[in-house]
Amino acid sequence: MMAATTKVVRVREESATARSIWLERPRGFTFAASQAVRLTLDGHSRPFSIASGPEREQLQFIARRSESAFKQAFFSLSAGDEVDLAGPRGNFFLEPARPAVMLAGGIGITPMKCLIEHAVDRKLTTPITLVYGNRDEREVVWGAEVDALAGAVLPLLKVLHTLTQPSPGWTGRVGRIDPALVKELVEKTPDAVFYLAGPPQMVTETREALLGVGVDASQLRLELFRGYDAV
Ligand SMILES: Cc1cc2nc3c(=O)[nH]c(=O)nc-3n(C[C@H](O)[C@H](O)[C@H](O)COP(=O)(O)OP(=O)(O)OC[C@H]3O[C@@H](n4cnc5c(N)ncnc54)[C@H](O)[C@@H]3O)c2cc1C
Repeated sequence: MMAATTKVVRVREESATARSIWLERPRGFTFAASQAVRLTLDGHSRPFSIASGPEREQLQFIARRSESAFKQAFFSLSAGDEVDLAGPRGNFFLEPARPAVMLAGGIGITPMKCLIEHAVDRKLTTPITLVYGNRDEREVVWGAEVDALAGAVLPLLKVLHTLTQPSPGWTGRVGRIDPALVKELVEKTPDAVFYLAGPPQMVTETREALLGVGVDASQLRLELFRGYDAV
């Protein structure tokens, strides 16, 4: 654990409702994919997953917009501003020797992005299935980028997008990450490690669905992003 003040290197809008910041990595700061840190802005603190792989030079964080004082401070950051961080913390680690099924709800993509970038940078051969649920196309963060990795860069990565309120032109899967989808995933890879991140309701319901079709609790890794409604 380390507490440090560091600087914003750059920022980028990721979607209609999300924004990235990249921070200089404090000297000596190391972490495992995908741990979290506590970010403090203007006296307000929130836990955040590190969205960039541990092998990358800077630390990326992606936040979904809200009206809270913390988010107002986050969305007004620009290059050169100072941010306090403390960490890393958490035990949401990739187990590369076992197949991975990642279930991300909305901004819950951030720890999965870190795990997948780690797999890219380390040339891991772990079979990974990413199921990524969002409300609509405008909310998807890192969608085109992860699609481009699947097959081409990571031969064993499969990505399945599912939207609850897609636009009329959407040809992909529609609906939530529900028990029927969970059952299909478990039938294909019963021995996987299941990584879940997103709004608490999504994580809790998906956990119940996994346990309901016989997955053992020891196969589950959970990250609950408090403060968000279900997608
Ligand atoms: C390990 C971890 C990693 C995370 N990574 C990310 C990330 O990468 N990106 C990201 O955007 N967010 C992430 N979060 C969530 C983040 O910490 C904030 O909670 C979230 O962004 C909402 O903050 P806010 O300031 O917008 O809303 P807040 O003002 O914190 O809360 C919004 C609503 O949630 C309710 N609420 C707040 N705290 C709780 C609580 N503990 N239990 C129940 N209800 C509560 C409030 O009453 C309010 O209605 C992560 C959380 C955890 C635990």
